[in-house]
Amino acid sequence: MAYRSVFDAGEITSEFDKAGISSHFIPCIWKWVARNPSCEWSDIPSLPSASYSLLNSKFKPLTSTLHSRVDSSDQVTTKLLIKLQNEAFVEAVIMTYDTRLGKYCGKPRPGGPRSTLCISSQVGCKMGCKFCATGSMGFKSNLSSGEIVEQLVHASRISSIRNVVFMGMGEPLNNYTAVVEAIRVMTSSPFQLSLKRITVSTVGITHAISKLHNDLPGVNLAVSLHAPVQDIRCQIMPAARAFPLEKLMDTLQVYQKNSKQKIFIEYIMLNGVNDEDQHAHQLGKLLETFDVVVNLIPFNPIGSISQFRSSSDVKVSNFQKVLRGTYNIRTTVRKQMGQDISGACGQLVVNLPNKRSSVNAERLTDIEDLRL
Ligand code: SF4
Repeated sequence: MAYRSVFDAGEITSEFDKAGISSHFIPCIWKWVARNPSCEWSDIPSLPSASYSLLNSKFKPLTSTLHSRVDSSDQVTTKLLIKLQNEAFVEAVIMTYDTRLGKYCGKPRPGGPRSTLCISSQVGCKMGCKFCATGSMGFKSNLSSGEIVEQLVHASRISSIRNVVFMGMGEPLNNYTAVVEAIRVMTSSPFQLSLKRITVSTVGITHAISKLHNDLPGVNLAVSLHAPVQDIRCQIMPAARAFPLEKLMDTLQVYQKNSKQKIFIEYIMLNGVNDEDQHAHQLGKLLETFDVVVNLIPFNPIGSISQFRSSSDVKVSNFQKVLRGTYNIRTTVRKQMGQDISGACGQLVVNLPNKRSSVNAERLTDIEDLRL
């Protein structure tokens, strides 16, 4: 029998309710498991006696295991390959950076080392974006909310996680209920992440974007736009046919009016496809009435399956100048992290071992990463 993850909040709450056990004990159980993932239920003290038999019969502290871990040569990025109880694998990527680097208003920046966790919401993905290795896998299954939270539990044993971005395998808004439930767990005791430090990235599932602000007010929204016009979007992102650009922009207008929040726009730079001067002007016009940050993402070729090439640094820089100079749009270029462990954006597809693996001597996959 498949056990449920104890971090499946809806499931454990409902089972406790049915058994007449107060849900007040659930955060204590999560806290214990987060600190002692290999614990037995009987290790946890002071729970009502009925809860032990219930936990034993239906739940496991963790349903997933950390199969392998690979650190990039610069030690900035760590890729985790996580094995689910159904034998499928997902990846999560930890990116560490130091906020004290650089200056702010001529003074040293405050803060210290911070980690961002890039998390998966599905095994594979239905969206089929042509530049993405995950898209080439097809869709396998949705993760439960507990399986999503368990990625945070595994990562937190390696690094103190401050930010979470749903930019790993899968389209998070295609697994909406589980993603919302997982975020609610992550922002409650014992994890207590701030909603402002969680970002959900979508290709533009319009009906789900409309709900997101009501369900998770304060969460950040990132939209994988990747093209300024519908025909180029359809060419590189088949899902764009179902969610036309015009409708997406209308949805984002309403979202921003209601949420009063900045929207992050992701734009992968593909040589000769979407990186010309005219595309920068089209994008600038499309976004000039929005409060957005555009993140230009250098494309990572995905071995021999890739039909695209990376844009040159000059093209990326010119694109950025048009958006900033002509349209006054805040535009950043994503720093590449973890390329040597295939942990960089759009590289996800399971394969081969890596010499820096430190858990099992087996091989990994990759994933998308991102730092906002
Ligand atoms: S880019 Fe994101 S939405 Fe598109 S196929 Fe890859 S994982 Fe899915």
